[in-house]
Formats: sequence, C-alpha cells, structure tokens
Amino acid sequence: MPADRAFPDGLAAGRGEVFQLLRDGRPRTRAELSAETGLARSTIAERIETLLASGLLRSADKAGSTGGRPPTMFTFNPAARVVLAADIGATHAKVALTDLTSDVLAEQETKVDLAIGPEAVLGYVAEAGQELLDQTGRSARDLLGVGVGLPGPVEHSTGRPVIPPIMPGWDGFDVKAHLHERLGVLTLVDNDVNLMALGEHKTHWPDAPNMMFVKVATGIGSGLISDGRLHRGSRGSAGDMGHVQVPHGVEVPCRCGNLGCLEAVASGAAIAARLTAAGIPALTSSDVVALARSGSVDAVQQIRQAGRDIGEVLATAVSLFNPSVIVVGGSLSQAGEHLIAGVREVVYRRSLPLATTELRIVRSRAGNRAGVIGAATMVIDHALSPFELDALLDR
Ligand SMILES: [Zn+2]
Repeated sequence: MPADRAFPDGLAAGRGEVFQLLRDGRPRTRAELSAETGLARSTIAERIETLLASGLLRSADKAGSTGGRPPTMFTFNPAARVVLAADIGATHAKVALTDLTSDVLAEQETKVDLAIGPEAVLGYVAEAGQELLDQTGRSARDLLGVGVGLPGPVEHSTGRPVIPPIMPGWDGFDVKAHLHERLGVLTLVDNDVNLMALGEHKTHWPDAPNMMFVKVATGIGSGLISDGRLHRGSRGSAGDMGHVQVPHGVEVPCRCGNLGCLEAVASGAAIAARLTAAGIPALTSSDVVALARSGSVDAVQQIRQAGRDIGEVLATAVSLFNPSVIVVGGSLSQAGEHLIAGVREVVYRRSLPLATTELRIVRSRAGNRAGVIGAATMVIDHALSPFELDALLDR
C-alpha cells in the first residue's frame, strides 16, 4: 500500500503511525512493517530505533528461519509505562496501576466522602498512586498519565464537573490541572459510567462496535459505545438516562425537580425508600441486594419491577441507537438475575424485531474493575494515538 493511502499527508513518516500497527500485539519484521505501511525500509529502521529507545517496542523471538539468519521481529511492550487510574464513586474510591494494555498491576480501595472536597479526595488518589508505584517497583517517571472517573456530569474537554448533584464543592473544579500540578503528567477526567462502558467494552466486547452500558446503583446512568468509540455527545452528557421520564410510570418527585424520572422510580435508593416505607428497613442499594439475597419476596419484586421500568426507557434507546449488546452493571445488578429479567421482559416485547434479533442483554463481567480499566484505556488511547505519541517521543 503506498504511503499516501496508508496515512494522511504529513503523517506518513510518523513514528506514532508505525507504532499503531504494533499495538495489536502481533510481532512483525522490518519487511512486514514496510509492506504494511508503504514506507521505505530505511525509514522503518529509523522509526524502530526511536521506538526501541523509548522502550515502547522490544525485539521479539526470531521469525521462523528459512535458512540463514532469521530477521528480527518487533513487538509492543506493554510494560514500558504504567497508568494511574481512579474510579471515584458516591461512597468508595478505587485506585489502580495498570500496564499499557489496561491490565491491573496493583489496586486499592477505600471509603470516601465526596463532601470532604476535591483537594482531599484527589490528595488520596495521588498518595494511593505513589503507594502503588512503590508496591510494583515503578517510579513516577514511568507514569504515562492519570485517568479519573467521577460520579457526576463531567465536561470531558476541560475535565471539570458540571453541577454534580452528589458532590458538594466540586462544581467547576479543575481536576485536570490539580492532578497535573501534583503528578506532572497528562490527566484526563470523565463521568464514571462512561469509563465503565469503556472498560467493559475493552475487556469483554471489543468486537461489539455498538454497545450500551447501564449502571444501576444509588443512581442510574449509561455509557454509549458507538462505532467502537465512546459517544460523549456535544458537552459530555450523552447517556444520562436517569432523568428520562418513565413512560406510564408513577409521578414521584425526583431530586432534579421533575416528576417520574427513572432514577426516582427504579434506582437502589428509590427501592430502599419504598421498602423502608413498607416496614422493611433498607438504606442503600447494597441493603436492597442483601435483602433479595436473603430471600425477601418484597425486595425481589421491587428489583424485578425496577428492571421493567429501566426496560421501558431502554426500549426507546434501542430504537434510537440499535446496540448489539446492553451490559447491566452497578451494585443493584448483583442481586442475581431479577433486575436483568425485568429489563429483558420489556425491551424484547417493546422493540422491533430488526433491533432485537441480535441484541444481547447481559450482566457486567468486568464488575467493580470496569471503571479503573476504562480510566486507563481513556489515557492510553489518547497518549498513544499517532499525534500524541510523536509529541511524547520528542519530549
Ligand atoms: Zn430527575
């Protein structure tokens, strides 16, 4: 393939572009790289030298010999750098160190109260990050970047939370600049559900280009993978399905000021409140799950109905977005099959056959690691993109 067809003008000689081919993990010889990129052997040799020096590539086992000295093969080295990933939830924060394939090398989790403010919470992230670096024998110089997920609306381009309802003191706080100043590396921030969608997609559904991830916990939200990429929308609020009105639902007031929002009807917090009113004390999503697991018929019925209400809203999303997979995660999904059974019941009944013949509705498999894997993936995909990588290698 000629160079001008493989790469846009001006990028033909980029080391970043040569590197992209090798990110799939398959070792290649100089001749194969030259054939695949259309670049001259001498150019390939020079690009490889720079990438070897950076540690991002390493020589692999020799290619099968056909007599004589076999040519050297080169492969992506995921251990070259590490990424710090933080998934900050409403009640807990998980911080992990990953390699360049988003594999978790070490992690720790703690309870957090977001009301202590952004400086204190992000201070914890930085300290935990240093401990994880020490634990794995890496240094701060090995950090490629930091990815942070927050439990509220985030404007991804600026990394600032936008009027986050459960995060007093965080509105407009410059999370990116704060962590960049403290750790000296690239920092990217997004909404936690977007990152869970990215993490689930990366680890379990890489071949499903159109996927929806729904988190059902204290609140309800979703993340959309469209054509293999996270779809954030124009300001980052795509997938915020918690405040869609449930069709034919009960008109209960929601904290956003509207009536009959999905979150006010079907979240773990809403179910806990209804159970408590019926004389079965429950405070959180986890209490509801514990009740269902211990055989409470009321809790099971409530969870199943929540699944149906979520299904009502998802049926509309299925018509508009046509995903091939809907992954249901979040703490309420831990209550066995009840939630997902309710979702399936309504989505399959209410959507047209063309939209549902290949639609799978499944539980999250990445589980409570989805958020940190997604945060790492966000950083890696950005920092190792052709343009950014060329800049990184020049520094
Ligand atoms: Zn609402």
